[in-house]
Amino acid sequence: MAPYLALASIAISIISIHSFKNKSVPHRCQDLETRPSTYLSNALEIKQKILEEHKGLIGKARKDHHSRRKPIPCGMTVHPAIGCSFGCLYCYVPDMGFPLKPQPYPLEPEEMLVALALNPYFLPGPAGTLVAFGSVTEPFMTHHIINKTLRYMRFIGGVMGNPLQVSTKAAPGERVAEELSSLPNGPPSVLISVATYSMQRTLEPGAASVDDRLRWGQLLMKRGVPVTLFLRPIIPGVPLDDLSYLLEKAWSMGYRRVILGSLRVTMGILRRLKAAGIPYEEIAARLPRRPANPREQITLRMGDLKQTVAYTAVKTGFNILPASCSANVVDHGQSCWACNLGPCGNPKHLPKLDVDDVMKSAEILGLKCVKDVSPRNGEVTVLVNDGCGKFSRKRRDVLETILTTLYRRRFLLRIS
Ligand code: SF4
Ligand code: SF4
Repeated sequence: MAPYLALASIAISIISIHSFKNKSVPHRCQDLETRPSTYLSNALEIKQKILEEHKGLIGKARKDHHSRRKPIPCGMTVHPAIGCSFGCLYCYVPDMGFPLKPQPYPLEPEEMLVALALNPYFLPGPAGTLVAFGSVTEPFMTHHIINKTLRYMRFIGGVMGNPLQVSTKAAPGERVAEELSSLPNGPPSVLISVATYSMQRTLEPGAASVDDRLRWGQLLMKRGVPVTLFLRPIIPGVPLDDLSYLLEKAWSMGYRRVILGSLRVTMGILRRLKAAGIPYEEIAARLPRRPANPREQITLRMGDLKQTVAYTAVKTGFNILPASCSANVVDHGQSCWACNLGPCGNPKHLPKLDVDDVMKSAEILGLKCVKDVSPRNGEVTVLVNDGCGKFSRKRRDVLETILTTLYRRRFLLRIS
């Protein structure tokens, strides 16, 4: 379903899930021609409705970082738990201070919904902010965490309808596959994450076996859930033959798309990989510099290695996607050109962009002194008259993020 049309069904979900039945509901989009500015005002009304309906939850939700965190490039990461016990040697989660013993996230689904509705950077709806589950945990690790992940997905998907994505190194079985295939706003984009075949027990001691992960992805595909192989991270020192074998195996099981992820290291990761016998020189040669403190993450220089793996993947038949958000966008029939890795998806599906509509959206967001709007490829510069007074860095950040999300192009505000 096209995103702008789908906002109508989301409004309907809100009515049914949250007893908005007898209240006035936001104006619904009528057709594909709906302008992004109309979508924006509907989306803001939906946020308002959620907050009015759940006044009692606002206090707790406001204290949670989901109510204020800025989305990262893959979208808004939602944490169904904190910490992870899988113990992947290349994982930065323990170095971020999260526990090795995972705990389900303390917010109930309604509270998470309110936190997102409070978040000024977050836009609800099918054409709104991309949502990614995981990030500082494995979303399908234990029974409790699986349930929390599914409840969050049902709630956020059913009430707000945002494009959902989950990445996993688990293989949680038939029930979860069934649940994912029948989420209220359609199946999520699923990333099956693998880093090696031959060294999996050393590098990913607690994760499901690669065979089980791949088989679970196959189960999802059979149920119509879009699945992408996430080769992440590519670790210098893991033999290329190993990765070729993995790609061929995945291809033979029906995988057709792959994302190639770089390795980010901390001091702890460097130590763990070295202790595991990964040839340290291979990694050291790609380090732009050593991490300055235990929490700092440094991305290795991996252009040549990624190119070699990409060559093998293409030769196998894979379509390479540049980033996880790209899979989310493509799997939801959308398009995005918000960074120089794009455009992703079919550019015909990019939201309509005309200057009057951008002016209107800016006005809805309270930005009244727009002098000029200059679109250029995936980038749109909005020139603002300084006669309207200064606005804080945060406000500028919020405006740029919301406009970027709405038009799926990178927006920059300039004051003249
Ligand atoms: S499964 Fe993910 S979160 Fe858990 S240790 Fe491995 S990389 Fe880290
Ligand atoms: S253009 Fe592609 S890679 Fe860039 S933010 Fe959009 S979906 Fe992600």
